[in-house]
Amino acid sequence: MKRTILLHPDPRLKKVCAPVTDLTDELRLLGDDMLTTMYEAPGVGLAAPQVGVLSRLIVLDCVKEEGEAPRPMIMFNPEVIASSDDLNTYEEGCLSIPEQFADVTRPAEVDVRWIDRNGKEVTDTFTKLWATCVQHEIDHLDGKLFIDYLKPLRRQMITRKMVKLKRELARG
Ligand code: ZN
Repeated sequence: MKRTILLHPDPRLKKVCAPVTDLTDELRLLGDDMLTTMYEAPGVGLAAPQVGVLSRLIVLDCVKEEGEAPRPMIMFNPEVIASSDDLNTYEEGCLSIPEQFADVTRPAEVDVRWIDRNGKEVTDTFTKLWATCVQHEIDHLDGKLFIDYLKPLRRQMITRKMVKLKRELARG
């Protein structure tokens, strides 16, 4: 089932999300719904607070090449446990901040630990777009958006545009 994606500014996008302590079927289904929502948007990642659920859950699929098999990932309690000194700059966007893009610099490589859909603890290394994406999504769980890395003026400009967009959408 497709969920509604919250748009910035929204107080729920600024909250620190609670760890998942009990991996219920409801949370597994939420993960499935989030993947459906992400693919349809389309996007390469989505975090639970973006659909209004303040739990530490993200989904990703950064496979972009046409014809390559999809690699959907559902990650509960994801945590960066090591970051490279090497940095990488990508032009980032966000499904909660449509049509706004900006360069963000982050560690080029990160080791991440999480609980998968079956409740198993997994650790893996993420590089390139996957590294950027997983860090962007984990940031969401701490109430942090990619525009928080920008200079205040740029951030305010984007937020003003979003306020205007939301007003227009509300008017219908
Ligand atoms: Zn985002």
